[in-house]
Amino acid sequence: MSADKPGAALSAPEHAGSVLQQKLSLVDMLDPITFGDVVDSLGELYRVGIRVLDERGRTLADTKGSNGDFCGFVNSCGEGRSRCAALVARLNEGPLAPTQGAQVLAGTSPLGGEMLTQPCFTGLRYVVVPVLWEGDLLGRVVFGPFAPEDLKELPASLAEVQGLDLARARELVMHVRRMPESKVMKMLAHVGQVMAALLAAGQKSYLAGQLHLEAMVETQRELEAQNAQLMRLNQRLKEADRMKSSFLGTVSHELRTPLSSIIGYSEMLAEGLVGSLNPEQMQFARTIIDKGNTLLKLISSILDMSQIEAGKVRLAFEWVDIQELVESAITSVTPQAQRKGLALKALLPPVVQPKVVADREKLRQVVVNLLANAVKFTPAGGRVDLRLSELMAQPQLGMPGYRIEVEDTGVGIPEDQRERIFQSFYQVDDSPTREYGGAGLGLAIVKSYVEGHGGQVSVTSEVGRGSCFRVVLPKEPPQSSQQGPAFIPPPVDLDTEPERF
Ligand code: ADP
Repeated sequence: MSADKPGAALSAPEHAGSVLQQKLSLVDMLDPITFGDVVDSLGELYRVGIRVLDERGRTLADTKGSNGDFCGFVNSCGEGRSRCAALVARLNEGPLAPTQGAQVLAGTSPLGGEMLTQPCFTGLRYVVVPVLWEGDLLGRVVFGPFAPEDLKELPASLAEVQGLDLARARELVMHVRRMPESKVMKMLAHVGQVMAALLAAGQKSYLAGQLHLEAMVETQRELEAQNAQLMRLNQRLKEADRMKSSFLGTVSHELRTPLSSIIGYSEMLAEGLVGSLNPEQMQFARTIIDKGNTLLKLISSILDMSQIEAGKVRLAFEWVDIQELVESAITSVTPQAQRKGLALKALLPPVVQPKVVADREKLRQVVVNLLANAVKFTPAGGRVDLRLSELMAQPQLGMPGYRIEVEDTGVGIPEDQRERIFQSFYQVDDSPTREYGGAGLGLAIVKSYVEGHGGQVSVTSEVGRGSCFRVVLPKEPPQSSQQGPAFIPPPVDLDTEPERF
């Protein structure tokens, strides 16, 4: 198939190897079953053999004519079979040129090129028609054998065949279809039209199919390239993230030491250890302590999160009295709650519960973070309740455990933000004029610590009415019984999760 044919103009991606630049073969374009049926019916109609071969000599369709008995008889005598085989080989694969007794047949070939008429040593005749399609030679049609109209007597070449009964041959040749050249030309024109129609339809559907396939392959290639690009970007993002965590970790660590000294010295001043302060000096010292503590908490959160992200946080499991732990957490947020005039209450199970396995400090921090948020996001006069459940089966964990709920009557969280608040640095109000302090790390730390214990954290909320954070924890985290130290796995950032590519 030449590249400048009309179909080539439709080519979208002009890359080497496109089907539009390839030469098609008859096998590509013709459906073998349909084509075989068509050729069979033409053969039956004309009572003449029709064989269609591709350019490599492979037979695509072959139908017998009315010559069967005569040819079978000749083939059974002397060198009849070998002479027939030589002729058939010439017809099937020989040059499409007037050589070896073939002659150019006058008239227009129905499929392009020159038609050849080839006499058989039996006196019968064949016509060979080349199949040219859009300038390419795709194969040939061998039409015959038939008896030419002018065949009066069987030729000497047949009489030479050893042991041949000429009288019987004369009898049998009468059954072979006899045709004038004009009739042969009409039949060939008909065969040519049918083939041209089948080839046009076959070419169309083959090209459409192949182009669709090429487009799919191209899309696949593009997707793979994009995937590779995304994976490289992902790697770089992860590396940048790791560097950010390590930088934050180092800076926080370096800030914590001098800040602790500032708070320590201010406390000494406030306690009058270096002389008594007047009320104004005392107020300044208290402000330094307050702001210093807020800053210290922030720095500690950053340091904790950078440790979590680096996968360096190790859980120290031990038997813990969970009631005592929640009460101590309540105590640590009581001053802030009182300052805001909030009712802060712990609702504990009526009977003392058995101890649970946990990392005491991390679990305390979980409860303190939830309580501190509840206090922070609840306006004055509101309520914060902490409920601790009894130890019982926890279906969502598939093992015994307990629940801690921190409920407030605060500002609430819009539904579309409830998943995201557990991501690092995410805050519902991130405007520069935001009302509440914080760095957006408290809940990310809660989630990591809870999941590190084999538990789950969730939230329900109604904007303007309040929120309820629920933590479900196993009595004995599976991680606590594993061999070796239990590290908290770094959080998987959904936006850069590798499986997504
Ligand atoms: P921070 O409190 O330091 O901003 P957190 O990770 O603890 O960071 O919380 C993230 C965000 O989730 C908060 O900024 C706030 O918007 C929202 N949030 C958390 N707890 C509550 C709560 N009890 N009520 C309303 N909003 C809350």
